[in-house]
Amino acid sequence: MPSSSGIPIRSTCEFKRIEDIQRVLGATAKAPGVRLSIGDDAAAIAPSQGCLLLLTTDSLVENVHFSRSYMTFRQIGYKAMAVNVSDIAAMGGVPRYALIALSMKKKEPAGNISRLYQGLNRCAQASGVYIIGGNITASSPSHADEGGFSVCVMLVGETTPYQMVRRNGARVGDILYVTGTLGEAAAGLEILKRSGSPRFSKLINRHKVPTLRIREGRALSTIASAMTDISDGLLSDLTHLIQASGVGAQLVSDHIPISPTLKHYCRETGNDPLPYALNGGEDYELLFTVPEKKINKLEALIAGRVVAACPIGTITSKGLRVQGASGRTVSVTPKGYDHLK
Ligand code: MG
Ligand code: MG
Ligand code: MG
Repeated sequence: MPSSSGIPIRSTCEFKRIEDIQRVLGATAKAPGVRLSIGDDAAAIAPSQGCLLLLTTDSLVENVHFSRSYMTFRQIGYKAMAVNVSDIAAMGGVPRYALIALSMKKKEPAGNISRLYQGLNRCAQASGVYIIGGNITASSPSHADEGGFSVCVMLVGETTPYQMVRRNGARVGDILYVTGTLGEAAAGLEILKRSGSPRFSKLINRHKVPTLRIREGRALSTIASAMTDISDGLLSDLTHLIQASGVGAQLVSDHIPISPTLKHYCRETGNDPLPYALNGGEDYELLFTVPEKKINKLEALIAGRVVAACPIGTITSKGLRVQGASGRTVSVTPKGYDHLK
């Protein structure tokens, strides 16, 4: 729409998109702690008393992290929020507020942005998160039909100083645990890339829709000595944890949780499920260590079904070793996902 001076008002499309987004999100201004939401130069929040703010960001980029040939915009939105929630959960925190930055081709249909926000907001609501701001930009300067889609979420969480769990607290003798089962997301991605076949939909869903582990992260916040989420693969993220803690680890391969569905898939394809569980990324489960004196507390959480977790090894003084079914141990080097390789 031209302005009164005859100069077209910049960003009319952008404002229309923002209105669409606000409609999807509803009233976030009334969210607890939010003093200012979408609609000003910046949002304003009042942190809860005595809390630390946890800040994290992660993006999903078209043809790097997803393809629109197998992910819907709702799924892309949900997952973009979920991978950030995973990092806050891994700190023992509560996710609270999110900012969303999108870049896209100028001709991206408006419906795709609304659907993306429906997915973002679905995961936000399931996580207690309020989306309080963001930005939209074109991903190519000239051609309206050029440029990939990317969504970047910046998530703010809260925790108290004594409930924050870092990667650096593992000590020799601590027991190593993992929530859920491992390797299914990697197998799901393999299926999607190979054929897009709807068989093994459970594996495909593990890739598309990460399980939220907020409740588990909170329950573990006063029990775990170190914790991280598994985004790049068990061995890769375990390496980060033991390096930060200045220790080593020994895994027992038979104890690594592999689901019946992944075993079934591997029987059909003639593959060994263990490499999927050790090196496949995007499990978004929690990997954590517990000192011997707190094992009883953890066992009570497991028995009470607050946390579904199992022991997979112990913290040693150095190196990373896996004990195989024969009882023989071998040294391993992680082959997880390296974002820049
Ligand atoms: Mg990351
Ligand atoms: Mg992480
Ligand atoms: Mg992350």
